[in-house]
Amino acid sequence: MKDLSGRVALITGAARGIGRASSNVLAQHGATVVMTDVLAEEGAAAAEAICKVGGDAHFLLLDVTSENAWHDTLDAASGRCGPISILINNAGIGEIGTIEDTSFDQWKRVMAVNSDAVFLGTRAAVRHMKDHGGGSIINVSSIEGIVGNAVLTAYNASKGAVRLLTKSAALHCAQQGYGIRVNSIHPGFAETSLVADALPLAPEGFAEDTLADIPMNLFASPEEIAKAILFLASDESSYMTGSELVVDGGLTAR
Ligand code: NAD
Repeated sequence: MKDLSGRVALITGAARGIGRASSNVLAQHGATVVMTDVLAEEGAAAAEAICKVGGDAHFLLLDVTSENAWHDTLDAASGRCGPISILINNAGIGEIGTIEDTSFDQWKRVMAVNSDAVFLGTRAAVRHMKDHGGGSIINVSSIEGIVGNAVLTAYNASKGAVRLLTKSAALHCAQQGYGIRVNSIHPGFAETSLVADALPLAPEGFAEDTLADIPMNLFASPEEIAKAILFLASDESSYMTGSELVVDGGLTAR
């Protein structure tokens, strides 16, 4: 049963794409969702849309790269809704660039949002959840955290870091008996603004070549990724920790 009634989930990067779809899906399954993002208007509207159809959603402004903001946001969210037992570290950005043409500024920007922030969020959540009955942390990596791509140097590195940070945190939580599971999810290509914004900067034919490489010959919808996140958030995945769940239409199967 993927019933999340009585659980409070905090989702980062929830104004758009996979974060928004995950908020919708978790709310449909009974969770109270605390949606966070740097996009205040879009985020608040997304939360309102969930409330309009009977869900319990709240929006809080959170720049995931700010260490202090993590502490304040967890305090505010748990004060308003009760202890957080699900965290989805989803916020992310993409930059196109090979090893030769990626600037150090681009590298640092990508690492700050995609990698440093997942460390900050996971650490804050472990400290919170261990005193509140445990929980499930889902770190949104990518297939680009498993296999390399010549034009995604910084993105590859940031998502690879998430993959092993997840395993280290999972081992620690299991060894300490905290009742906290930590898993990573590795989407293939999903139709979101992250991909749409990056495509014009990618080499010619990138979208067509990528689609041709996907055995299912389809890009994912954000909802298809969200359903896998729901599985990791729920007790259906109770024996999974330190795992990496690939959702990629078969792209990395060969
Ligand atoms: P998206 O651009 O649609 O949404 C990303 C959200 O993150 C936006 O709402 C944005 O405002 C927010 N965000 C960016 N920087 C932030 C910050 N500093 N603090 C808080 N929020 C911030 O992208 P998406 O495709 O839904 O991506 C979600 C996650 O999935 C990312 O981690 C991305 O790397 C990962 N992913 C996406 C795909 C894909 O094909 N779309 C594939 C694999 C992994």
